[in-house]
Amino acid sequence: MNDLNKTEDSRERALLVGIRFPSMKASEAEESINELKALARTAGAEVTEVVLQQRERPDSSILIGRGKAREIAELIKERQIDLAIFDHDLTPVQQRNLENLFSCKVVDRTALILDIFALHAHTKEGKVQVELAQYMYLLNRLTGRGIQLSRLGGGIGTRGPGETKLEVDRRVIRRRIGTLRKELRELERVRQVKRKRRAKRGIYSFSLVGYTNAGKSSLLNQLARTSVTVEDMLFSTLDSTTKRIRLESGKIAVITDTVGFINKLPHQLVEAFKSTLEEVRESDTILHVIDASSNLLHNKVEAVYTVLDELGAENIPRIEVLNKIDLCDEERRRELTRMFKGALMISAKTGEGLECLKELLDEVVTSAKNARAGERHIISGRN
Ligand code: GDP
Ligand code: MG
Repeated sequence: MNDLNKTEDSRERALLVGIRFPSMKASEAEESINELKALARTAGAEVTEVVLQQRERPDSSILIGRGKAREIAELIKERQIDLAIFDHDLTPVQQRNLENLFSCKVVDRTALILDIFALHAHTKEGKVQVELAQYMYLLNRLTGRGIQLSRLGGGIGTRGPGETKLEVDRRVIRRRIGTLRKELRELERVRQVKRKRRAKRGIYSFSLVGYTNAGKSSLLNQLARTSVTVEDMLFSTLDSTTKRIRLESGKIAVITDTVGFINKLPHQLVEAFKSTLEEVRESDTILHVIDASSNLLHNKVEAVYTVLDELGAENIPRIEVLNKIDLCDEERRRELTRMFKGALMISAKTGEGLECLKELLDEVVTSAKNARAGERHIISGRN
């Protein structure tokens, strides 16, 4: 089905390169490279080497230092590495120069993320969105007629959604982008019709957002008693799912599980995923699921806020939910209480705090219903 079923030998052997610039804390650089490792594995690569470099500023032609680059080239030859993955965005020129230096394929974090999205897109809409994002990314990097991508023979960085391979001809890409945009508009219209129908029936909608792996799908499963895929993998769920939930009071609401956010989420992706993420913007309340056990929860929370702002969802009421509380000791819990005033602590795994969350959701829906009834009352009062 996907990368996990591949045999060890068919995996591409990858070398990761991370750079710590002065603006980064050591813990941030480390977490970032760990995340890249997880991303590379999710894309089906076998990570054999990790190289970290400290640098004052990026080199415009190869990003890293000359000496380091030579060292890496040696390693690549020695260990028979298939591709080098950079934790930073590369300009097309940097990528080309590095490929010439290393004599292997070079991809950056964005290309890797796009590749994973391609692997995990299952619905029609998801596939169209990913393909669009990939082509927008590729188009930016093509020079001439696309011959510069000759090194990208196959595998990570060239996989389209499904088993298709991406085209590298500029003219073909342009035409394809046009078609994809049109398809998306049509799919968006369908989605909108559904949303309007729900709104008309007065069904309250929650959307689950959060950093990837925070536990959004696990929480949806708990709340809606469904079985959405839960995996300790980045982006195991790409397509958004909407489920109905019946609250204690008997009221019905819908809850949408969305794609996970991540640091440096490629902007092409945010752009292409607008229609899926539109669900977030149009929802009545956002449930922001936070992995309370993560050391870098502040960075992750920030990353989520940034994307929400980009989506124009900054004004939707939010409920912050600290998940994985089963992994936190007393001291950590106290710290969390100080950091996130009023946030709920829950565990989608053990069920701790879920009753409180359900009660809160019930209250939110009830007060919204009352507010709406109030509006009607005022209007009729004026007549
Ligand atoms: P998503 O990417 O936000 O949808 O996250 P998932 O729901 O797929 O969960 C990611 C991983 O975290 C899985 O391995 C889950 O089993 C695990 N997980 C989710 N909630 C909890 C929790 O409350 N406690 C613990 N210990 N693990 C959890
Ligand atoms: Mg999920």
